[in-house]
Formats: sequence, C-alpha cells, structure tokens
Amino acid sequence: MQNHSADIIIIGGGLAGLVSAIHLSKPGLIVTIIEKNEYPKHKVCGEYISNEVLPYLQQLGADPMTTGAKKIIRFLLSTTRGKTIETKLPLGGFGVSRFTLDHFLLQKAIQNNCTVLQNTVLDVHFADDMFQVTTKEGNELSAKIVIGAFGKRSNLDITLDRTFIKNRSPFVGVKTHVQGNFPDDLVALHNFEGGYCGISQVENGNLNVCYLANYKSFQQYKNIDAFNKAVLYKNPHLKNIFENATPVFEQPLTISQISFSDKTTVQDHILMCGDAAGMIHPLCGNGMAMAIHSAKIASELIIDFFEKKIKTRQELETAYQLQWNKHFKKRIKSGRILQSFFGKDDLTRAIMYGLTHIPGILPVIIRQTHGRPLNVNDG
Ligand SMILES: Cc1cc2nc3c(=O)[nH]c(=O)nc-3n(C[C@H](O)[C@H](O)[C@H](O)COP(=O)(O)OP(=O)(O)OC[C@H]3O[C@@H](n4cnc5c(N)ncnc54)[C@H](O)[C@@H]3O)c2cc1C
Repeated sequence: MQNHSADIIIIGGGLAGLVSAIHLSKPGLIVTIIEKNEYPKHKVCGEYISNEVLPYLQQLGADPMTTGAKKIIRFLLSTTRGKTIETKLPLGGFGVSRFTLDHFLLQKAIQNNCTVLQNTVLDVHFADDMFQVTTKEGNELSAKIVIGAFGKRSNLDITLDRTFIKNRSPFVGVKTHVQGNFPDDLVALHNFEGGYCGISQVENGNLNVCYLANYKSFQQYKNIDAFNKAVLYKNPHLKNIFENATPVFEQPLTISQISFSDKTTVQDHILMCGDAAGMIHPLCGNGMAMAIHSAKIASELIIDFFEKKIKTRQELETAYQLQWNKHFKKRIKSGRILQSFFGKDDLTRAIMYGLTHIPGILPVIIRQTHGRPLNVNDG
C-alpha cells in the first residue's frame, strides 16, 4: 500500500493503541493502526485490570465485562515464606486474558472504521508538519498525528535513539495459564526471593500465573521449571498452586529486559502512549489501566487539535506532557518505592508485620498507585 494517508497513525495495536483508535474514530477521524503481530495472541501480563478504566471503556462502547471477565474484589499478599494478609480492593478490578481483550478491542476498532495493518513500522520521519511512516514491507504512510503505542520495548526505541533502551534492565517476566483451584474474585501477589508472582482468574476460568523475577537469579537455573522449584516453591502458596495445577500452555511465555526507567512522553513529535511513555511496576497491577488512561488523555487532546480548540502542535505536545505527568508520574514513583521492598525476605516481613498490625494501611498503599474511575471528558 503506497501513499496511504490518515489523520492519525497509531503504531502498536495493544491496549493503548486500540483504545486510542476506538476513541479517535468516534468523532469520525481517519485512523490507521499498524500492529506487527497477528490477533489473537497471548502476552506476558498479569491480566488483572483495575476498575478505574471500566466506566470509560463502557462509554466507548467496549465493555470488557461482556467477554466474561471475572470480577475481582479481594487482594491477598504473601511474604517469601508464605505469611499472608488479605484486604478488600478499594476499587476492585477484573480478570481477562490479553488474548481475548486485545482481540475484543480490535473488533470494536474495526467496527468504528479504523484501518488495521499487520506490519512492523521501521521508521517515522517528521517534516513539513506531516509524518511519513515506513513499514518493513516498504509501505509509506502519511498522517498529521502519530501515536507511539508500541509497548515496553520495540525496534522503534532503537531507531528513535531513546535513552532508556541503552541501559540493561535486570527484570524478566514469565506468564502461563493453568487450570486449578482458586477463587474467581481474588487476586494474589505472592513474594519469592528476588521477585513476585500474581495469580487471578481470567474469563474462561483458567488461572493466570505471571511473575517478575531478577534476571541474575533466573539465569542460574537451566530452565523455568528448575527456577520455579528452587525459588518460587519456597513460598508454600506458590508450591501449592504449581503442584496442583494443570498447565494450559505448552510452554510459559517469557520476556526479558523489562525497563521501568523514565521515558520521553513526546519524542520527535510522536505522542507516546501506554508502556512506550513509561511503565509502572507490575506489582501495582495497574499498567493496563495506565495504558488505557493515557490513550484517553491523548485522544481527547488530539480531538481538540483537529477541532482547532488546540491551535498548534506545540500546544498539543505541551498539554499532553503536562497531563501525563499529572496523572502518572507520582504513581510510577510510588511503584518504584514499593518494588524496592518486594522480593526481599527481611523487608517484606517487616512490612507485613506493620500491615498486620495496622490493616488499614494496605488499601492506602494500593490507592497510591491507582487512579480514580475515569469517564469520557472528565479531564
Ligand atoms: C510481568 C508483567 C505482569 C504484568 N501484569 C499486569 C497486571 O496484572 N495488570 C496490569 O494492569 N498491567 C500489568 N502489566 C503491565 C501491562 O502488561 C502493560 O502496561 C500493558 O500491556 C501496556 O499496554 P501497551 O498498549 O502500552 O503495550 P502492549 O500491549 O505491549 O502493545 C504494544 C504493541 O505494539 C506492537 N509493536 C511494537 N513495535 C512495533 C512496531 N515497530 N510496529 C508495529 N507494531 C509494534 C507490539 O506487537 C504490541 O502489540 C504487566 C507487565 C508485566 C511485564
């Protein structure tokens, strides 16, 4: 496809990209999404989503609860040795696989007349107030606005010479689905030496088991199974889950080099959305909600730009940066502080001691990393 042009090109069709596409196409803007992978596809993700985005998604006509997502209202935390504390989640959330959710949102975007191309973007060039986007197959596409929704780590981060990509990151993520006995209204976060593992149900009753581990410790073992047995099994709750569950995936999915460093919100005039703009530690269970929220912020400002309520590109970029910082900077910082306590036996034990003696603290900590419920046009 040569010389294809759109109002907005969205690079990456994950949550941030698809939600932006649905939102922007509502007032009739011409939107093209370019996603390198096929749908549906499993992704490394804990698949617990905070309810803060539920009203917004419903208002967009994309109610995720129609997929059979499980309502989750309780949170259980355990130390590396298995001591637990449980609390009601202040807002609650829902469990749905990315396999189902991303595909569901894709269908909504297509219904709204968005064009979806399966291709890898290799380069983005900005000149004369327009973007030229080049794909692996040599297609050239042009647009007034480009949203970078290409996730936590992409070939484009190298092309755009983004600083965070030059530093090595010590984290590896592992995810699998299993069948086992686990309440459908609970999300558990079990600590182990050097990491933590989330467990919750998804729409079909399978359990998502997803953990983040220290790469140095991970690479000492010959395979995932050996690592699980030597490290995760020290937490009796994890041992119990693994020993009594039936795997659904042939092999767990893994990703490495997960970076939680600061990133640029706007680079080369591209508005970065979701993980491409910044990633919160997964223990907060909030990255997907932030990706969706950033899509909302970008979309509302872009609509104002096309409706000439925002007069210049500079004004648009500044407004996006300001809003992004206002909503997410503090949350990401709180996530980093929390992360520094997790996976360390002494520290988690000391924290658990505090939490069990003052139980009201846990919901306060959870609120620090979460936002309030979102509604269309509520700023
Ligand atoms: C171990 C782990 C557990 C997590 N658990 C949770 C959890 O329980 N709850 C939660 O809310 N969050 C969780 N998160 C975070 C959550 O997964 C992310 O924040 C969320 O997926 C971000 O969505 P996104 O749209 O920004 O990126 P993605 O969903 O990753 O989408 C980016 C898309 O861009 C595409 N792409 C990349 N480069 C190109 C290119 N050059 N051309 C075309 N397409 C491209 C990719 O194929 C991908 O589909 C977890 C993360 C990790 C690592």
